[in-house]
Amino acid sequence: MITEAASEHLLPWLVSTRQALMQRFLQHSLHHGLLLSGPEGIGKRQLANALMKGLLCLQPSEQGECGQCQSCKLVSAGTHPDHHVLESEKQLGVDAIRSGIAKLNSTAQIGRHKVLLIPVADKMTEAASNALLKTLEEPTDNTYLILITSNLNALLPTILSRCEKHQLALPSVSQSLNWLATQGDFDVTEALLQAYGNAPLRVLSALQDEAGLSYREFTDGLADMLSGKADITAIAAKWQGSAELVIDWCQQYYHDQYRAQLRSSDFERYQQCIGFARRAQHPGINKTLLLTQLFSQLIQQ
Ligand SMILES: [Zn+2]
Repeated sequence: MITEAASEHLLPWLVSTRQALMQRFLQHSLHHGLLLSGPEGIGKRQLANALMKGLLCLQPSEQGECGQCQSCKLVSAGTHPDHHVLESEKQLGVDAIRSGIAKLNSTAQIGRHKVLLIPVADKMTEAASNALLKTLEEPTDNTYLILITSNLNALLPTILSRCEKHQLALPSVSQSLNWLATQGDFDVTEALLQAYGNAPLRVLSALQDEAGLSYREFTDGLADMLSGKADITAIAAKWQGSAELVIDWCQQYYHDQYRAQLRSSDFERYQQCIGFARRAQHPGINKTLLLTQLFSQLIQQ
């Protein structure tokens, strides 16, 4: 979960994008269909929320919402009538999209604008995407649609072509480390940041999830297995809940080993990890067994 502090203050690397979008909004030149994309864990949802607040605010500025007006208060309370979010655990079906669109048909109740947010746009089924197309083509007055995805390739080309696309990049390593240092008493190294794809919110969420597997536990466990000190089946059973992450870390470990020493055996292990990452995606796969197989291949001399 993201901390309160992070959700109240826009992440520093997103400030300039918000400002550029708010400027265009104030000049009445902002596109009504916005698609925010980029890697997981960089704050796309926070940018969308900040933008939504700015678009709904009764006294907006380039810096976003005023925080004081009736609209801002309703947004904070989570009861703004002109702000709609379409979320779903699984796929986002056509009925959900239609009911979301129907809500946009009435006049805005507080200010002039209405916002529909689709936080995981790649979960839309094909029928749902097609239902949304019409609204993207001919939006109702004063309506903004904000779509978010970490997987641009999973969206229909017709959706992509009707949105204004904003591809958000990873923040720089120093930006991420500086920001993480303000979030708590954590000792975050560059290696740890890299272990989470250089995505600072992924690092923060892992650090706050005390029940989850930490990168430190992983590197210690891997070292024990490689030196023959640890029981790989026991470790596989212990880590199976984080199997994808473990495979990802193993892959990265052998990638780094290969780059440092150019040993072909490390490259082979790196490739094996890629194969296991694919297998981990199969529904119903036994992850303890999968990790046991991976570890026994990795420790073979
Ligand atoms: Zn306001």
